[in-house]
Parts: sequence; structure tokens; C-alpha cells
Amino acid sequence: MIDTHTHLYLPEFHTDIEQVLNRAQQAGITQCWIPGIDLDSLRAMSELYELMPVPGYFRLFAGLHPCEVKGNYREELKQIRQALLSGKYDGIGEIGLDRHWDLSFFNEQLEALRIQLDWALEFNMPVLIHTRDAFDEIMPLIRPYFNKGLKGIFHSYAGTLEQALELCSEGGFYLGINGSITYKNSAQKLFLKEIPLQYIVTETDAPYLSPVPHRGKRNEPAYIPLIVEQLADIYQKATEEIKKISFANPNCLFNYKSKDKALVSYFFFVICAVFLRSSVVEQGEMLEWLKRHAWKA
Ligand SMILES: [Zn+2]
Repeated sequence: MIDTHTHLYLPEFHTDIEQVLNRAQQAGITQCWIPGIDLDSLRAMSELYELMPVPGYFRLFAGLHPCEVKGNYREELKQIRQALLSGKYDGIGEIGLDRHWDLSFFNEQLEALRIQLDWALEFNMPVLIHTRDAFDEIMPLIRPYFNKGLKGIFHSYAGTLEQALELCSEGGFYLGINGSITYKNSAQKLFLKEIPLQYIVTETDAPYLSPVPHRGKRNEPAYIPLIVEQLADIYQKATEEIKKISFANPNCLFNYKSKDKALVSYFFFVICAVFLRSSVVEQGEMLEWLKRHAWKA
């Protein structure tokens, strides 16, 4: 299982991060994806990275969160772009729009999002998108990116069924589902079943949004199985099947990155085909030779 969204570098985990990581591994979590929120978070993420001896356990994302877009956002973006070029990051995030807290920099949020989506195309990286109270604003902004190769996750999905279906089927996005679907008042829980499982990925958004029965307390990746169970219940599938999906779906975001590998395989195939064809020709010639000599004999 994969936790596609967890902020393990935040102070909430400073005292017991090693135990948190142990519990995650014991619970069957094979990868944790760590989204940045600003420049400072990237430093904290680097320190976290050093703590995990299992290679590939963390995937790191760098980006400017909409709530962190302030007057100096252009300078901050410049440095985040430099970080993305360092090769340490697998994707861009979290980025997006947030109209819940503060609207004073909303125009800057729109601009920062466009800039970072363009980077995603330029660097061929997936994006983690945060959208709070801003689905009507993000849909027209993101539509021009459909079919251009942009891939990613709408994390902590909180839009409507129609928006979900458009994002998945037209836009090729995945929806991040977390502990909020275990809450009684979850609007998404009511229509989730209408969204094919192939578009669903699991996340905690730790330390926030703990699933029931831990609601109100600190969240952590080891609680992913509670979300898996809830999904199994909603979709009426076996838990094992949801576990497999929890691993397979998010990894699809990285398969498309192996364009170069695909090119190498293509050339290998062409060479094999040419070789086989030439050996068929040789076999044909050999048959002719045998026939002639057999006739002579
Ligand atoms: Zn987040």
C-alpha cells in the first residue's frame, strides 16, 4: 500500500518519527510520498530522507502550496525550480488553489499554479494538487492541460461527482482518498462508488484528517489500512484487492516517465524483427540448397 500524501517532516513527528516509520512498514505501507509546501519544507524533507534506510521508500515532491503564495512568490518559485532541477524530486507538489483561508493573494495563486503546471509538462513530472473551496476556479484553469501529458493526483478530493469524472476520464487524473471518507458527513462517500477504482489512490494527509476511530488525533501512514477497509466496504470488494490497487494505481504516474525505455525496447524489437526476417531468408535459402543437393543425391 502507498500513502501518496503525508507530511512526515512537520514538527508533529519530530519526537517519534522512527516509531512512526516502523509502524508504517509493519502496517504494510511500502512507499510514502512527501509533498513540500514551500522552500523551508524542502530542507526538512531532506533531513527526513536521511532517516529511511529503505531505498525508494520516500518519493519527494517540491512545490509552492497555494496557502504559502505571498508577495514574494516569484522569488520562492525561482528557488523551487532550482530544487526540482537537482534530481532529488519525483514530482511537483503540492500546488493548487485555496479560497478557504485567505483571498488576498488569490490572483497570485492562479499565476503560481499555471507556472508550476507548465513546469510539470517541461520536466515530465506528475503533480499533487490541493484544491479547497476552489473547484469552480480550478476546472477552467486545468482543462487546457488535458491531453498535453499532464498527470497527477487531486489530493484529498473534495469536488463533485461530475468534476471527478471529468478530471479522471478527460484529464487522466487520480483522486486522493483519505480519512475524511470515514466521517459521517463526507459528501464524497455518497458518490465515490460511481468513480471507477482505477482512478482512486490512497493517502493520509498526515498529520491531518485522521480516519475514524482516530479522528481529532494525529494521523500517520500506518492508518492507511483503515482507508483501504472503508474503500473495500464502499466498492464491495475484498480488502486484498483494494490493497493491490493502493499500490498499483499511484505507480502508473511514473510508468509514463520511462519514455526512453520504451524507445530502447522499440529499437530492440525492430532489430529482433530484422534478425528474424534475415534468418527466415537464410532458412529459405538453406531449404533451397538442401532441395537442390537432395535432388542431386
Ligand atoms: Zn498536504
